[in-house]
Amino acid sequence: MLKAAFPGSFDPPTLGHTNIVRRAASIFDELLVVVAENRRKKYLFSAEERVAMIRELVKDCGNVLVEICDTLIVDFLRRRDIRLLVRGVRGLDDFSYEFELSMMNKALDPRIETIFMTTDPEYFVLRSSSIKELASFHGDTTGMVPPLVAEALKAKYR
Ligand code: ADP
Repeated sequence: MLKAAFPGSFDPPTLGHTNIVRRAASIFDELLVVVAENRRKKYLFSAEERVAMIRELVKDCGNVLVEICDTLIVDFLRRRDIRLLVRGVRGLDDFSYEFELSMMNKALDPRIETIFMTTDPEYFVLRSSSIKELASFHGDTTGMVPPLVAEALKAKYR
């Protein structure tokens, strides 16, 4: 059974994230989406809200699970016997950052392998932080996030 994890903030989940989830879920037997909960970070959506949105968005994928992680990702993965980390890459900037992160994770646990999936072209400009900014000015986020996330953003900034 080949299991992989896709960690991130998903604050909020975008069409870029769901695209990576679906593509990864079609490769691995089981995909665990890991929602980061870092006490030092400020999120717009609570971890429970982010988990609920992702579960709803991928409920048709039978092999996708969603959990919260408030520890180091390598410790979280070790406890679940998962060795593969999936990360999405939008371009060179993402890659430099992701490359360093993968080196750090490998230093912490040499069994961890990071697999990079390049974004599908229509999603490469999608970034949760820019989408939040747009939503905060009541801009239209259609085509960037799934409709339920667009509604949730509107409700937050009402
Ligand atoms: P971001 O604020 O960059 O969306 P996340 O921590 O939520 O940050 O991202 C989780 C993972 O999803 C990271 O590997 C990130 O590179 C990837 N990702 C984010 N947006 C996209 C996208 N539009 N296409 C592909 N991968 C993406």
